[in-house]
Amino acid sequence: MTTNKKKIFITQTMAPGGRALLAERDDIELIEFPNLISAPDFAALLKSHAPVHGVALGATRFGEAELEAAKDMKVVTRIGVGYDAVDVPALSRRKIPLMVVGTANSPSVAEQALFMMLMLAKRANELHALVKDGQWSTRLGKLPYDLFGKTVLIIGFGRIGTRTARRCQAMEMSVLVYDPYQPADEIKRAGYEAVASLDGALSRADFVSIHCPKTPETIGMFNAARLKHMKPSAYLINTARGGIIEEAALYEALTSSKLAGAGLDVFAQEPPPVPYPLFELPNVIIAPHVAGVTVEAVDRMSEQTARNILSALDGAPIRDNVINQDVLV
Ligand code: NAD
Repeated sequence: MTTNKKKIFITQTMAPGGRALLAERDDIELIEFPNLISAPDFAALLKSHAPVHGVALGATRFGEAELEAAKDMKVVTRIGVGYDAVDVPALSRRKIPLMVVGTANSPSVAEQALFMMLMLAKRANELHALVKDGQWSTRLGKLPYDLFGKTVLIIGFGRIGTRTARRCQAMEMSVLVYDPYQPADEIKRAGYEAVASLDGALSRADFVSIHCPKTPETIGMFNAARLKHMKPSAYLINTARGGIIEEAALYEALTSSKLAGAGLDVFAQEPPPVPYPLFELPNVIIAPHVAGVTVEAVDRMSEQTARNILSALDGAPIRDNVINQDVLV
C-alpha cells in the first residue's frame, strides 16, 4: 500500500517518550526493527518499506547498502553520541545529516566518573566486605580517603569532561585539564588549570578521569610507559571507551603497587571475557558500559532523537547535534 506519510525506522529499544513525540504527528509512520538485526536482514527490511525517510539507530550499522535500500533517506540519528557504526562520508555524499543526542547523557557519565572516584577513595568494596565478613576489628587498617583537597586530572574537556570537572570542583578538589584541542584560556576561565603535558600532569594527579574520544591518537594512550608517570597512590577512571587503556599494562601496574586502583565502565572487548584477572583485584571496580544509560538518560536520549528527526524532516536540523556539518547550508 502506498502512503504519503514519512516512514521512520526506530529500533525496538527506543524508550516510549521519543516514540510518543513521533507518533503525535499524523504525517509520520513508525516502523520498528530489532536492535540486534543482522545487516542483510536490515537492508532487506528497509527495501521492503522503501522509501524510508528517517532512522533511529541503536546498535545497528548504517552505510551505503542501507542508504541504497532506503531510497529516500532524509535523516539518520543515533540514540546516543557514538557513531563509529555509521559511514559518515556516505551520508555526507548524499547530503543526509547524521544526528546524535548532544548532552542528553553527559551528566549521567560525569556522575558515574565521580561515583567511581568516591567508591575507590572510600574503599567501598573492601569495607563492605569487611563488615559482612565479621572483620570489624581490622577496620582501622583500611581507612578510606577524602576527595577533598586532592588533585584530579580530567582528560578531554568536552560535554562530559566539563561536567566531571564541575562535580570535582564541588568536592573541593584541584582540577587539572588536559585537552590539546580546547583553548587554555577557556579552561582557565572555567576555574581549572590547563596542562600542556599529559605526562607532567600525571605525576601530580591523585585521580585521573578519561573523557576523550577513542581515536587513533588515544588508543593505547594509557600503556605501560604512560602508567609509569602516575603516582602509586593514584586512581584511574575510564568511562570513555575501551582500548584507551591497555588492560594488560593496567593489571601489571595494579598488581605491582604502581597504581592504587581503577574504575572501568568500558573495555577493549565488550562484553569482556570472564573470568578476567583484572576483575578479581579488590581495588578495581567495574560496570557494564552503563554510565550513559541511566533510567533518566534513556528517556532524554529517546526524546532528543525524536526532536532531531522532526527538526530534519521539517527542514531545520538542530545544528549542534549534526555530526557532518558539511551537509548544512
Ligand atoms: P566530546 O566530543 O564532547 O568531548 C571530547 C573531548 O575530548 C573534546 O573536547 C576533544 O577536544 C577532547 N580530545 C580529543 N582528543 C584528545 C586527546 N588526544 N587528548 C585529550 N583530549 C582529547 O565527547 P563527550 O560527549 O564528552 O564524550 C567523551 C567520551 O565519553 C567519548 O569517548 C564517548 O564515547 C564516551 N561516552 C561514554 C559513555 C558511556 O556510557 N560510558 C556514554 C557517552 C559517551
